Amino acid sequence: MNKRIASIVGAENVSDSAIDIEAYSYCCSERELKPSLVIWPRNAEQAQRMLLFANQGRTPVVLRGKGTTTSEGCIADNALVLSSERMNKITFVDLNNKLVEVEAGMSIHDLNNSLRSVNVMFPVVPLNPGQTIGGMVALNALSKQSQLIGRVNEWVEKVEFVDGTGKSFFTKKKEDVVGREGLSGFITKAQLRVVDIPSISLEFFHFNELTDLLNQVRLLRKDKEVYFLEFFDRKTSNEMGFELKYSLMAAYTSFRGKIKNAQEIKEWLDKADSAVVFIRSSGYYYMEDPFVSFEKAYDLIEWCEKHDVRLQGHIGLGAFYAYFQKKDRDLLDTFSSFLRRTGGKLGDVFGTGIKNKLWVSQEKKKEFIKLKEEYDYNNILNPDKIINYR
Ligand SMILES: Cc1cc2nc3c(=O)[nH]c(=O)nc-3n(C[C@H](O)[C@H](O)[C@H](O)COP(=O)(O)OP(=O)(O)OC[C@H]3O[C@@H](n4cnc5c(N)ncnc54)[C@H](O)[C@@H]3O)c2cc1C
Repeated sequence: MNKRIASIVGAENVSDSAIDIEAYSYCCSERELKPSLVIWPRNAEQAQRMLLFANQGRTPVVLRGKGTTTSEGCIADNALVLSSERMNKITFVDLNNKLVEVEAGMSIHDLNNSLRSVNVMFPVVPLNPGQTIGGMVALNALSKQSQLIGRVNEWVEKVEFVDGTGKSFFTKKKEDVVGREGLSGFITKAQLRVVDIPSISLEFFHFNELTDLLNQVRLLRKDKEVYFLEFFDRKTSNEMGFELKYSLMAAYTSFRGKIKNAQEIKEWLDKADSAVVFIRSSGYYYMEDPFVSFEKAYDLIEWCEKHDVRLQGHIGLGAFYAYFQKKDRDLLDTFSSFLRRTGGKLGDVFGTGIKNKLWVSQEKKKEFIKLKEEYDYNNILNPDKIINYR
């Protein structure tokens, strides 16, 4: 099989070396699932030929960007890994219409770095700068900015993808691939809308009492000038240099925030984004993505504080990141039960994959089965993810 695959993508773009197999056996969870081969197509045509070949042999294929998901959607035992990492170019820029076309393997960090020279950016900027555009489209990624501008699907015009039978599409029918976690096809390119780099101002608010914090959030959520609202638990605030109080960072699309200097804003945003790094490196190893309604934010924050679970996140959206210590692994189940009781869920940001399968509604499962029937009836793409099909 390797020879045939090498003839499609080139010998240098396929590997079964122990080191590559090991590296692609993980995502950002602890689970290890060993693939049989790692393949890096260089372009859409190679990806198409690869999927035609895999479909003929009914060979399972797991699709992968940078492997930053924690939900195990990009790992599988004995499968071929189809990685977008070597398809990482901007292929088209139309500044008049604010459109760019970018290959799936380019990271959001590299995309926005390249666009900075022409003063535009892709506005959904998630916490993890390494994630690929393909991965972001596949998971319909969310970021702090989503409070005002929505998720990635709002910014995708067209998607190029190859389905599980090897057919290629470049389509505006984006709902068939955006947020579908690779169950319908391998995304090879996306046409995205970009914006002028916005000017913002920032302000921090600090609270002793949770009710005061939530009252402030309630007010700011209705405010049209608010771009995003970031919450930090007391310990995290303290580590950021504040008192041991709950903190709220508000970003405005106007200059009414007290912090207006561009350099200072950048430093604060970098500090806020690096909270994930210093929380995890201080022993809070497991990361979950609880989503709750605004009414239940009080319960979530209180629960986490009581159990020494660190919490930060996009409080205006109800999307948080919760961090558990290694010794508290057993608490993860208790946390899931708590979330169910409050009507919250997991996997809305990090994806469903394997880990969050239990959170998928019957209605969603039916949608995925329909997609499989249309685009991948032999079920070769991400076969054990989200649903059990065939
Ligand atoms: C510290 C940390 C912070 C994070 N912050 C955020 C955040 O702010 N917002 C957010 O939304 N997520 C966040 N995530 C989750 C993760 O980074 C995203 O889910 C991201 O979109 C995954 O991109 P990736 O390139 O790493 O994809 P992978 O992890 O490789 O894959 C993720 C899923 O997408 C599928 N996929 C990947 N590429 C393709 C493709 N080309 N075609 C079809 N399917 C594909 C895979 O099969 C898999 O199901 C975070 C994760 C970590 C660990």
